Amino acid sequence: ALTVEQAKTWLEDFYTEIEAQKQYLSDLDTPIGDGDHGNNMARGMTAVHEDISDADFASVSDLFKKVAMDLISKVGGASGPLYGTAFLEMSKTAAGSTELKDLVSAALAGIEKRGKATTNEKTMIDVWSPMAEKLNSDEAVSEADIDQFVESTKDMVATKGRASYLGERSVGHIDPGAMSSGYLLKALVKVGA
Ligand code: ADP
Ligand code: MG
Ligand code: MG
Repeated sequence: ALTVEQAKTWLEDFYTEIEAQKQYLSDLDTPIGDGDHGNNMARGMTAVHEDISDADFASVSDLFKKVAMDLISKVGGASGPLYGTAFLEMSKTAAGSTELKDLVSAALAGIEKRGKATTNEKTMIDVWSPMAEKLNSDEAVSEADIDQFVESTKDMVATKGRASYLGERSVGHIDPGAMSSGYLLKALVKVGA
Protein backbone atom coordinates (compact mmCIF):
# COMPACT_ATOMS: atom_id res chain seq x y z
CA ALA A 1 0.00 0.00 0.00
CA LEU A 2 1.20 3.45 -0.96
CA THR A 3 2.14 5.93 1.80
CA VAL A 4 2.05 9.73 1.48
CA GLU A 5 5.87 9.80 1.31
CA GLN A 6 5.94 7.13 -1.41
CA ALA A 7 3.23 8.96 -3.35
CA LYS A 8 5.25 12.19 -3.20
CA THR A 9 8.38 10.37 -4.38
CA TRP A 10 6.37 8.88 -7.23
CA LEU A 11 5.08 12.28 -8.38
CA GLU A 12 8.46 14.01 -8.03
CA ASP A 13 10.11 11.23 -10.09
CA PHE A 14 7.40 11.60 -12.73
CA TYR A 15 7.93 15.37 -12.77
CA THR A 16 11.68 14.85 -13.35
CA GLU A 17 11.02 12.35 -16.14
CA ILE A 18 8.50 14.63 -17.86
CA GLU A 19 11.01 17.51 -17.76
CA ALA A 20 13.67 15.22 -19.28
CA GLN A 21 11.35 13.78 -21.97
CA LYS A 22 9.27 16.86 -22.76
CA GLN A 23 10.71 17.32 -26.26
CA TYR A 24 10.46 13.60 -27.08
CA LEU A 25 6.79 13.50 -26.00
CA SER A 26 5.97 16.50 -28.17
CA ASP A 27 7.93 14.91 -31.05
CA LEU A 28 5.79 11.75 -30.71
CA ASP A 29 2.70 13.98 -30.86
CA THR A 30 3.88 15.73 -34.04
CA PRO A 31 3.18 13.11 -36.77
CA ILE A 32 -0.15 11.94 -35.28
CA GLY A 33 -1.30 14.99 -33.30
CA ASP A 34 -0.47 18.66 -32.76
CA GLY A 35 2.98 18.39 -31.21
CA ASP A 36 2.13 19.69 -27.74
CA HIS A 37 1.89 16.66 -25.46
CA GLY A 38 5.28 17.13 -23.77
CA ASN A 39 4.66 20.82 -23.18
CA ASN A 40 1.17 20.11 -21.86
CA MET A 41 2.46 17.54 -19.37
CA ALA A 42 5.42 19.68 -18.33
CA ARG A 43 3.10 22.63 -17.58
CA GLY A 44 0.93 20.39 -15.41
CA MET A 45 3.73 18.62 -13.59
CA THR A 46 5.57 21.86 -12.88
CA ALA A 47 2.43 23.04 -11.07
CA VAL A 48 2.22 19.72 -9.21
CA HIS A 49 5.89 19.94 -8.20
CA GLU A 50 5.46 23.51 -6.94
CA ASP A 51 2.36 22.56 -4.95
CA ILE A 52 3.63 19.36 -3.32
CA SER A 53 7.39 19.67 -2.80
CA ASP A 54 7.20 21.77 0.38
CA ALA A 55 3.67 20.88 1.48
CA ASP A 56 2.43 18.33 3.99
CA PHE A 57 -0.57 16.16 3.19
CA ALA A 58 -2.67 14.35 5.77
CA SER A 59 -3.42 11.49 3.39
CA VAL A 60 -2.72 10.05 -0.06
CA SER A 61 -6.30 10.99 -0.87
CA ASP A 62 -5.65 14.71 -0.13
CA LEU A 63 -2.40 14.63 -2.11
CA PHE A 64 -4.05 13.09 -5.18
CA LYS A 65 -6.89 15.62 -5.04
CA LYS A 66 -4.37 18.45 -5.27
CA VAL A 67 -2.62 16.71 -8.17
CA ALA A 68 -5.93 16.22 -9.98
CA MET A 69 -6.80 19.92 -9.68
CA ASP A 70 -3.38 20.99 -10.98
CA LEU A 71 -3.55 18.62 -13.95
CA ILE A 72 -7.11 19.60 -14.87
CA SER A 73 -6.34 23.33 -14.70
CA LYS A 74 -2.83 23.30 -16.24
CA VAL A 75 -2.35 20.46 -18.76
CA GLY A 76 -5.21 21.31 -21.11
CA GLY A 77 -5.85 19.41 -24.34
CA ALA A 78 -7.39 15.96 -24.29
CA SER A 79 -4.89 14.59 -21.80
CA GLY A 80 -5.48 17.16 -19.00
CA PRO A 81 -9.03 16.07 -18.14
CA LEU A 82 -8.02 12.42 -18.57
CA TYR A 83 -5.04 12.55 -16.20
CA GLY A 84 -7.07 14.80 -13.90
CA THR A 85 -9.88 12.25 -13.77
CA ALA A 86 -7.37 9.46 -13.13
CA PHE A 87 -6.06 11.28 -10.04
CA LEU A 88 -9.54 12.30 -8.90
CA GLU A 89 -10.68 8.67 -9.01
CA MET A 90 -7.47 7.53 -7.27
CA SER A 91 -8.12 10.19 -4.62
CA LYS A 92 -11.60 8.76 -3.94
CA THR A 93 -10.30 5.19 -3.81
CA ALA A 94 -7.33 6.12 -1.61
CA ALA A 95 -9.75 7.08 1.16
CA GLY A 96 -10.39 3.33 1.54
CA SER A 97 -7.35 1.59 0.02
CA THR A 98 -3.97 2.58 -1.38
CA GLU A 99 -3.19 -0.86 -2.82
CA LEU A 100 -1.73 -0.31 -6.27
CA LYS A 101 -4.27 -2.59 -7.93
CA ASP A 102 -7.14 -0.60 -6.43
CA LEU A 103 -5.61 2.77 -7.38
CA VAL A 104 -4.73 1.77 -10.95
CA SER A 105 -8.13 0.10 -11.51
CA ALA A 106 -9.93 3.25 -10.33
CA ALA A 107 -7.80 5.46 -12.58
CA LEU A 108 -8.45 3.22 -15.58
CA ALA A 109 -12.21 3.23 -15.03
CA GLY A 110 -12.16 7.04 -14.81
CA ILE A 111 -10.10 7.45 -17.99
CA GLU A 112 -12.33 5.04 -19.93
CA LYS A 113 -15.47 6.83 -18.82
CA ARG A 114 -14.15 10.35 -19.44
CA GLY A 115 -12.53 9.43 -22.78
CA LYS A 116 -15.43 7.22 -23.93
CA ALA A 117 -12.74 4.84 -25.09
CA THR A 118 -11.55 1.30 -24.59
CA THR A 119 -8.48 -0.80 -25.35
CA ASN A 120 -6.97 -1.11 -28.82
CA GLU A 121 -7.85 2.48 -29.79
CA LYS A 122 -4.22 3.64 -29.56
CA THR A 123 -4.49 5.78 -26.43
CA MET A 124 -3.13 5.86 -22.90
CA ILE A 125 -5.77 3.21 -22.06
CA ASP A 126 -3.57 0.66 -23.82
CA VAL A 127 -1.05 1.14 -21.01
CA TRP A 128 -3.40 1.58 -18.03
CA SER A 129 -5.57 -1.42 -18.93
CA PRO A 130 -2.91 -4.17 -19.16
CA MET A 131 -1.27 -2.65 -16.06
CA ALA A 132 -4.53 -2.97 -14.09
CA GLU A 133 -5.06 -6.48 -15.44
CA LYS A 134 -1.62 -7.65 -14.33
CA LEU A 135 -1.92 -6.07 -10.88
CA ASN A 136 -5.38 -7.55 -10.40
CA SER A 137 -4.09 -11.04 -11.15
CA ASP A 138 -1.43 -10.39 -8.46
CA GLU A 139 1.42 -10.58 -10.94
CA ALA A 140 4.53 -8.48 -10.51
CA VAL A 141 4.80 -5.74 -13.14
CA SER A 142 8.30 -4.86 -14.36
CA GLU A 143 9.44 -1.74 -16.17
CA ALA A 144 10.02 -3.96 -19.23
CA ASP A 145 6.35 -5.03 -19.11
CA ILE A 146 5.28 -1.40 -19.17
CA ASP A 147 7.65 -0.64 -22.06
CA GLN A 148 5.90 -3.42 -23.94
CA PHE A 149 2.42 -1.96 -23.24
CA VAL A 150 3.63 1.40 -24.61
CA GLU A 151 5.27 -0.21 -27.65
CA SER A 152 2.05 -2.13 -28.46
CA THR A 153 0.36 1.15 -29.44
CA LYS A 154 2.71 1.51 -32.42
CA ASP A 155 0.86 -1.04 -34.57
CA MET A 156 -2.62 0.18 -33.62
CA VAL A 157 -4.97 2.30 -35.73
CA ALA A 158 -6.13 5.32 -33.73
CA THR A 159 -9.89 5.59 -33.34
CA LYS A 160 -9.98 8.24 -30.56
CA GLY A 161 -8.40 11.67 -30.15
CA ARG A 162 -6.55 13.73 -32.76
CA ALA A 163 -4.61 10.71 -34.08
CA SER A 164 -7.92 9.21 -35.25
CA TYR A 165 -8.10 11.89 -37.97
CA LEU A 166 -5.21 10.05 -39.66
CA GLY A 167 -6.94 6.65 -39.67
CA GLU A 168 -4.57 3.98 -41.06
CA ARG A 169 -1.78 6.56 -41.33
CA SER A 170 -1.55 6.58 -37.55
CA VAL A 171 0.03 3.10 -37.71
CA GLY A 172 3.78 3.00 -37.07
CA HIS A 173 3.82 5.69 -34.39
CA ILE A 174 3.81 5.25 -30.61
CA ASP A 175 0.94 7.10 -28.95
CA PRO A 176 2.30 10.06 -26.93
CA GLY A 177 -0.22 9.68 -24.08
CA ALA A 178 0.67 5.99 -23.83
CA MET A 179 4.33 6.99 -23.53
CA SER A 180 3.69 9.54 -20.76
CA SER A 181 1.45 7.03 -18.96
CA GLY A 182 4.30 4.53 -19.25
CA TYR A 183 6.60 7.01 -17.48
CA LEU A 184 4.00 7.53 -14.76
CA LEU A 185 3.46 3.81 -14.14
CA LYS A 186 7.17 2.95 -14.30
CA ALA A 187 7.81 5.61 -11.64
CA LEU A 188 5.05 4.00 -9.56
CA VAL A 189 6.59 0.52 -9.87
CA LYS A 190 10.00 1.97 -8.87
CA VAL A 191 8.59 3.32 -5.59
CA GLY A 192 8.12 -0.31 -4.54
CA ALA A 193 4.81 0.07 -2.67
P1 ADP B 1 -4.41 17.08 -27.55
O1 ADP B 1 -4.63 15.88 -28.41
O2 ADP B 1 -5.69 17.78 -27.21
O3 ADP B 1 -3.36 18.00 -28.10
P2 ADP B 1 -2.45 15.90 -25.79
O4 ADP B 1 -1.54 15.97 -26.95
O5 ADP B 1 -1.93 16.49 -24.52
O6 ADP B 1 -3.86 16.53 -26.12
O7 ADP B 1 -2.80 14.39 -25.45
C1 ADP B 1 -3.01 13.43 -26.46
C2 ADP B 1 -3.15 12.06 -25.83
O8 ADP B 1 -4.40 11.96 -25.14
C3 ADP B 1 -3.18 10.93 -26.84
O9 ADP B 1 -1.86 10.51 -27.16
C4 ADP B 1 -3.97 9.83 -26.15
O10 ADP B 1 -3.16 8.95 -25.39
C5 ADP B 1 -4.85 10.61 -25.19
N1 ADP B 1 -6.25 10.62 -25.63
C6 ADP B 1 -6.83 11.44 -26.53
N2 ADP B 1 -8.15 11.18 -26.64
C7 ADP B 1 -8.41 10.16 -25.78
C8 ADP B 1 -9.60 9.43 -25.39
N3 ADP B 1 -10.80 9.71 -25.92
N4 ADP B 1 -9.47 8.45 -24.47
C9 ADP B 1 -8.28 8.17 -23.90
N5 ADP B 1 -7.14 8.83 -24.21
C10 ADP B 1 -7.20 9.79 -25.13
MG1 MG C 1 -1.45 17.15 -28.63
MG1 MG D 1 -3.28 20.11 -28.22
